Amino acid sequence: MTVGRKWRAPQSDLRVAFDGSFRIDAAPTAPSSEADKVALEAARKERTQEIYELQRKLYADNRYAVLFVFQAMDAGGKDGTIRNVFTGVNPAGFQVSSFKAPSDEELDHDFLWRVAQQLPERGRIGVFNRSHYEEVLVVRVHPEFLEGQRLPNLDLETIWSERFESIRNFERHLAENGTIIVKFFLNVSFQEQKKRLLRRIDKPSRNWKFNTDDVKERERWPDYMRAFEDALNETSRPWAPWYAIPADDKPYMRLQVARIVQETLEGLGVGFPKIDDTARRALAKCREALERQ
Ligand code: ATP
Ligand code: MG
Repeated sequence: MTVGRKWRAPQSDLRVAFDGSFRIDAAPTAPSSEADKVALEAARKERTQEIYELQRKLYADNRYAVLFVFQAMDAGGKDGTIRNVFTGVNPAGFQVSSFKAPSDEELDHDFLWRVAQQLPERGRIGVFNRSHYEEVLVVRVHPEFLEGQRLPNLDLETIWSERFESIRNFERHLAENGTIIVKFFLNVSFQEQKKRLLRRIDKPSRNWKFNTDDVKERERWPDYMRAFEDALNETSRPWAPWYAIPADDKPYMRLQVARIVQETLEGLGVGFPKIDDTARRALAKCREALERQ
Protein backbone atom coordinates (compact mmCIF):
# COMPACT_ATOMS: atom_id res chain seq x y z
CA MET A 1 0.00 0.00 0.00
CA THR A 2 1.33 3.44 -0.82
CA VAL A 3 -0.66 5.88 1.29
CA GLY A 4 1.74 8.75 0.72
CA ARG A 5 1.78 8.41 -3.04
CA LYS A 6 -1.98 8.39 -3.33
CA TRP A 7 -2.27 11.64 -1.41
CA ARG A 8 -2.10 14.73 -3.58
CA ALA A 9 -0.36 17.87 -2.41
CA PRO A 10 -2.56 21.00 -2.59
CA GLN A 11 -2.27 22.84 -5.90
CA SER A 12 -0.77 26.29 -5.68
CA ASP A 13 1.39 28.68 -7.66
CA LEU A 14 3.52 28.75 -4.54
CA ARG A 15 4.28 25.04 -4.69
CA VAL A 16 7.91 24.36 -5.60
CA ALA A 17 8.09 22.36 -8.83
CA PHE A 18 9.20 18.73 -8.53
CA ASP A 19 11.59 18.92 -11.50
CA GLY A 20 14.33 21.15 -10.11
CA SER A 21 13.24 24.30 -11.92
CA PHE A 22 12.73 26.50 -8.82
CA ARG A 23 14.71 29.77 -8.99
CA ILE A 24 14.86 31.65 -5.73
CA ASP A 25 15.54 35.00 -7.44
CA ALA A 26 12.26 34.67 -9.29
CA ALA A 27 10.24 33.61 -6.23
CA PRO A 28 8.16 36.50 -4.86
CA THR A 29 8.77 37.77 -1.32
CA ALA A 30 5.62 39.94 -1.34
CA PRO A 31 2.10 39.65 -2.75
CA SER A 32 1.65 41.01 -6.28
CA SER A 33 -0.94 43.54 -5.15
CA GLU A 34 -1.59 45.25 -1.84
CA ALA A 35 -4.36 43.42 -0.01
CA ASP A 36 -6.61 44.57 2.80
CA LYS A 37 -5.16 43.49 6.14
CA VAL A 38 -8.53 43.08 7.82
CA ALA A 39 -9.90 40.91 5.01
CA LEU A 40 -6.76 38.75 5.00
CA GLU A 41 -6.98 38.29 8.74
CA ALA A 42 -10.68 37.36 8.57
CA ALA A 43 -10.01 34.81 5.81
CA ARG A 44 -7.14 33.37 7.85
CA LYS A 45 -9.38 32.98 10.91
CA GLU A 46 -11.94 31.10 8.85
CA ARG A 47 -9.27 28.65 7.68
CA THR A 48 -8.01 28.26 11.23
CA GLN A 49 -11.51 27.35 12.40
CA GLU A 50 -11.69 24.72 9.64
CA ILE A 51 -8.27 23.41 10.63
CA TYR A 52 -9.58 22.99 14.18
CA GLU A 53 -12.52 20.93 12.94
CA LEU A 54 -10.43 18.83 10.54
CA GLN A 55 -7.93 18.10 13.30
CA ARG A 56 -10.69 16.54 15.40
CA LYS A 57 -11.50 14.22 12.51
CA LEU A 58 -7.84 13.43 11.88
CA TYR A 59 -7.56 12.44 15.54
CA ALA A 60 -10.69 10.29 15.50
CA ASP A 61 -9.68 8.66 12.20
CA ASN A 62 -6.28 7.84 13.70
CA ARG A 63 -4.53 6.65 10.52
CA TYR A 64 -2.53 9.61 9.26
CA ALA A 65 0.15 11.62 10.98
CA VAL A 66 0.66 15.07 9.49
CA LEU A 67 3.97 16.94 9.61
CA PHE A 68 4.38 20.61 8.70
CA VAL A 69 7.97 21.81 8.39
CA PHE A 70 8.84 25.52 8.65
CA GLN A 71 12.14 26.95 7.45
CA ALA A 72 13.10 30.58 6.96
CA MET A 73 15.89 33.07 7.37
CA ASP A 74 15.96 34.72 10.81
CA ALA A 75 12.92 36.90 11.44
CA GLY A 76 11.14 35.22 8.56
CA GLY A 77 8.05 34.85 10.74
CA LYS A 78 8.01 31.16 11.68
CA ASP A 79 6.90 31.61 15.29
CA GLY A 80 4.07 34.05 14.57
CA THR A 81 2.80 32.05 11.63
CA ILE A 82 2.70 28.82 13.61
CA ARG A 83 0.95 30.60 16.49
CA ASN A 84 -1.67 32.19 14.24
CA VAL A 85 -2.43 29.37 11.85
CA PHE A 86 -2.89 26.76 14.58
CA THR A 87 -4.68 28.91 17.15
CA GLY A 88 -7.22 26.85 19.02
CA VAL A 89 -6.31 23.37 17.76
CA ASN A 90 -6.63 20.76 20.47
CA PRO A 91 -3.21 20.60 22.17
CA ALA A 92 -3.74 16.88 22.81
CA GLY A 93 -3.33 16.20 19.10
CA PHE A 94 -0.73 18.81 18.27
CA GLN A 95 2.96 19.30 18.92
CA VAL A 96 5.53 21.93 17.93
CA SER A 97 9.21 20.95 17.98
CA SER A 98 11.97 23.56 17.62
CA PHE A 99 15.43 22.57 16.50
CA LYS A 100 18.43 24.61 17.60
CA ALA A 101 22.15 23.85 17.27
CA PRO A 102 22.54 20.15 18.13
CA SER A 103 23.45 19.06 21.67
CA ASP A 104 26.37 16.75 22.47
CA GLU A 105 23.97 13.83 22.70
CA GLU A 106 22.45 14.68 19.32
CA LEU A 107 25.90 14.95 17.78
CA ASP A 108 26.56 11.38 18.89
CA HIS A 109 23.93 10.24 16.38
CA ASP A 110 23.19 10.63 12.69
CA PHE A 111 21.50 13.91 11.69
CA LEU A 112 18.02 12.41 11.31
CA TRP A 113 17.98 10.88 14.80
CA ARG A 114 16.70 13.90 16.67
CA VAL A 115 13.96 14.68 14.16
CA ALA A 116 12.78 11.05 14.05
CA GLN A 117 12.11 11.27 17.79
CA GLN A 118 9.81 14.25 17.34
CA LEU A 119 7.68 12.88 14.51
CA PRO A 120 3.92 13.06 15.11
CA GLU A 121 1.96 9.94 15.95
CA ARG A 122 -1.00 8.77 13.88
CA GLY A 123 -3.95 11.07 14.34
CA ARG A 124 -1.75 14.02 15.31
CA ILE A 125 -0.30 17.13 13.73
CA GLY A 126 3.39 17.84 14.25
CA VAL A 127 5.07 21.13 13.43
CA PHE A 128 8.82 21.48 13.00
CA ASN A 129 10.13 24.99 13.68
CA ARG A 130 13.43 24.44 11.82
CA SER A 131 14.22 20.83 11.08
CA HIS A 132 16.61 18.33 9.47
CA TYR A 133 16.89 20.91 6.67
CA GLU A 134 19.27 22.94 8.85
CA GLU A 135 21.77 20.22 7.96
CA VAL A 136 21.79 21.35 4.33
CA LEU A 137 21.27 25.07 5.06
CA VAL A 138 23.17 26.53 8.04
CA VAL A 139 25.63 23.62 7.99
CA ARG A 140 26.21 24.07 4.27
CA VAL A 141 26.93 27.77 4.76
CA HIS A 142 29.15 26.85 7.73
CA PRO A 143 30.82 23.55 6.81
CA GLU A 144 33.02 24.01 9.91
CA PHE A 145 29.99 22.72 11.91
CA LEU A 146 30.65 19.32 10.35
CA GLU A 147 33.72 18.93 12.57
CA GLY A 148 31.53 18.44 15.61
CA GLN A 149 29.63 15.71 13.77
CA ARG A 150 32.73 13.46 13.61
CA LEU A 151 31.75 11.81 10.33
CA PRO A 152 34.26 9.08 9.52
CA ASN A 153 34.04 9.35 5.71
CA LEU A 154 33.51 13.06 5.26
CA ASP A 155 33.87 14.18 1.66
CA LEU A 156 32.89 17.82 1.09
CA GLU A 157 32.39 17.13 -2.61
CA THR A 158 29.63 14.59 -2.08
CA ILE A 159 28.15 15.23 1.35
CA TRP A 160 25.33 17.58 0.27
CA SER A 161 24.01 15.33 -2.50
CA GLU A 162 24.23 12.40 -0.06
CA ARG A 163 22.24 14.35 2.51
CA PHE A 164 19.60 15.27 -0.05
CA GLU A 165 19.27 11.62 -0.94
CA SER A 166 19.00 10.63 2.74
CA ILE A 167 16.29 13.24 3.26
CA ARG A 168 14.33 12.18 0.16
CA ASN A 169 14.47 8.54 1.21
CA PHE A 170 13.54 9.34 4.82
CA GLU A 171 10.55 11.43 3.81
CA ARG A 172 9.41 8.92 1.23
CA HIS A 173 9.55 6.16 3.81
CA LEU A 174 7.45 8.25 6.19
CA ALA A 175 4.95 9.09 3.44
CA GLU A 176 4.55 5.45 2.50
CA ASN A 177 3.79 4.64 6.11
CA GLY A 178 1.09 7.22 6.66
CA THR A 179 2.85 10.49 7.48
CA ILE A 180 1.77 13.39 5.31
CA ILE A 181 4.61 15.90 4.90
CA VAL A 182 4.21 19.50 3.80
CA LYS A 183 7.07 21.99 3.98
CA PHE A 184 7.01 25.79 4.08
CA PHE A 185 9.84 28.13 3.16
CA LEU A 186 8.86 31.57 4.45
CA ASN A 187 10.58 33.72 1.86
CA VAL A 188 11.44 37.07 3.42
CA SER A 189 13.43 39.70 1.50
CA PHE A 190 16.82 41.06 2.57
CA GLN A 191 15.28 44.52 3.12
CA GLU A 192 12.32 43.28 5.17
CA GLN A 193 14.62 41.17 7.36
CA LYS A 194 16.62 44.31 8.15
CA LYS A 195 13.43 46.10 9.26
CA ARG A 196 12.39 43.20 11.47
CA LEU A 197 15.82 42.88 13.06
CA LEU A 198 15.84 46.63 13.76
CA ARG A 199 12.44 46.25 15.43
CA ARG A 200 13.86 43.51 17.62
CA ILE A 201 16.53 45.96 18.76
CA ASP A 202 14.24 48.97 19.17
CA LYS A 203 11.23 47.36 20.81
CA PRO A 204 11.95 46.20 24.40
CA SER A 205 9.32 43.45 24.20
CA ARG A 206 11.20 42.02 21.22
CA ASN A 207 14.77 42.35 22.51
CA TRP A 208 14.80 38.75 23.71
CA LYS A 209 14.35 37.60 20.10
CA PHE A 210 17.43 39.42 18.90
CA ASN A 211 20.59 37.43 18.49
CA THR A 212 23.80 39.35 17.72
CA ASP A 213 24.83 36.54 15.35
CA ASP A 214 21.79 37.28 13.17
CA VAL A 215 23.54 40.40 11.86
CA LYS A 216 26.66 38.40 10.97
CA GLU A 217 24.57 35.73 9.23
CA ARG A 218 23.00 38.42 7.06
CA GLU A 219 26.36 38.90 5.39
CA ARG A 220 26.09 35.34 4.15
CA TRP A 221 22.68 35.99 2.57
CA PRO A 222 23.66 34.95 -1.00
CA ASP A 223 25.11 31.68 0.34
CA TYR A 224 21.90 30.99 2.24
CA MET A 225 19.81 31.71 -0.84
CA ARG A 226 21.89 29.28 -2.90
CA ALA A 227 21.52 26.65 -0.18
CA PHE A 228 17.75 27.16 0.00
CA GLU A 229 17.36 26.98 -3.77
CA ASP A 230 19.30 23.76 -3.93
CA ALA A 231 17.54 22.18 -0.95
CA LEU A 232 14.08 23.00 -2.29
CA ASN A 233 14.89 21.69 -5.77
CA GLU A 234 16.41 18.50 -4.42
CA THR A 235 13.64 17.70 -1.95
CA SER A 236 10.33 19.07 -3.25
CA ARG A 237 8.59 15.91 -4.33
CA PRO A 238 4.93 14.84 -4.72
CA TRP A 239 5.06 12.99 -1.38
CA ALA A 240 6.75 15.87 0.48
CA PRO A 241 6.28 19.16 -1.38
CA TRP A 242 7.77 22.54 -0.54
CA TYR A 243 5.78 25.76 -0.76
CA ALA A 244 7.72 29.03 -1.08
CA ILE A 245 5.54 31.58 0.70
CA PRO A 246 6.06 35.33 0.17
CA ALA A 247 6.82 36.44 3.73
CA ASP A 248 7.22 40.24 3.65
CA ASP A 249 3.52 40.82 4.37
CA LYS A 250 2.59 38.89 7.50
CA PRO A 251 -1.21 38.69 7.13
CA TYR A 252 -0.79 37.56 3.52
CA MET A 253 1.82 34.96 4.46
CA ARG A 254 -0.30 33.58 7.28
CA LEU A 255 -3.34 33.23 5.07
CA GLN A 256 -1.35 31.35 2.40
CA VAL A 257 0.01 28.94 4.99
CA ALA A 258 -3.42 28.48 6.61
CA ARG A 259 -4.95 27.75 3.22
CA ILE A 260 -2.39 25.08 2.37
CA VAL A 261 -2.64 23.52 5.83
CA GLN A 262 -6.44 23.42 5.60
CA GLU A 263 -6.38 21.96 2.09
CA THR A 264 -3.82 19.35 3.16
CA LEU A 265 -6.07 18.15 5.98
CA GLU A 266 -9.21 18.33 3.86
CA GLY A 267 -7.52 16.31 1.10
CA LEU A 268 -7.12 13.37 3.45
CA GLY A 269 -10.86 12.81 3.48
CA VAL A 270 -10.86 12.00 7.19
CA GLY A 271 -14.13 11.82 9.07
CA PHE A 272 -15.49 10.52 12.33
CA PRO A 273 -15.49 6.70 12.14
CA LYS A 274 -18.94 5.27 11.34
CA ILE A 275 -20.27 2.41 13.42
CA ASP A 276 -21.98 -0.69 12.05
CA ASP A 277 -25.39 -2.12 12.98
CA THR A 278 -24.04 -4.42 15.69
CA ALA A 279 -22.27 -1.52 17.38
CA ARG A 280 -25.38 0.63 17.00
CA ARG A 281 -27.49 -2.05 18.73
CA ALA A 282 -24.92 -2.25 21.52
CA LEU A 283 -25.17 1.52 21.96
CA ALA A 284 -28.98 1.31 22.17
CA LYS A 285 -28.66 -1.35 24.88
CA CYS A 286 -26.26 0.85 26.84
CA ARG A 287 -28.70 3.74 26.55
CA GLU A 288 -31.49 1.60 28.00
CA ALA A 289 -29.24 0.40 30.81
CA LEU A 290 -28.18 3.96 31.65
CA GLU A 291 -31.76 5.16 31.70
CA ARG A 292 -32.80 2.35 34.05
CA GLN A 293 -30.05 3.26 36.57
P1 ATP B 1 13.94 33.33 15.29
O1 ATP B 1 13.75 33.08 13.83
O2 ATP B 1 12.72 33.92 15.93
O3 ATP B 1 15.19 34.10 15.58
P2 ATP B 1 15.16 30.83 15.71
O4 ATP B 1 14.50 29.63 15.14
O5 ATP B 1 16.21 31.47 14.89
O6 ATP B 1 14.07 31.91 16.03
P3 ATP B 1 17.22 30.76 17.60
O7 ATP B 1 17.36 30.19 18.97
O8 ATP B 1 17.46 32.22 17.39
O9 ATP B 1 15.77 30.40 17.08
O10 ATP B 1 18.20 30.01 16.61
C1 ATP B 1 18.37 28.64 16.48
C2 ATP B 1 19.68 28.46 15.75
O11 ATP B 1 20.03 27.09 15.72
C3 ATP B 1 19.65 28.96 14.33
O12 ATP B 1 20.71 29.85 14.10
C4 ATP B 1 19.85 27.69 13.52
O13 ATP B 1 20.51 27.90 12.31
C5 ATP B 1 20.62 26.83 14.49
N1 ATP B 1 20.54 25.40 14.14
C6 ATP B 1 19.45 24.65 14.04
N2 ATP B 1 19.77 23.39 13.63
C7 ATP B 1 21.09 23.37 13.49
C8 ATP B 1 22.02 22.37 13.10
N3 ATP B 1 21.61 21.15 12.77
N4 ATP B 1 23.33 22.69 13.08
C9 ATP B 1 23.73 23.93 13.42
N5 ATP B 1 22.91 24.92 13.79
C10 ATP B 1 21.61 24.65 13.82
MG1 MG C 1 17.10 33.43 15.59
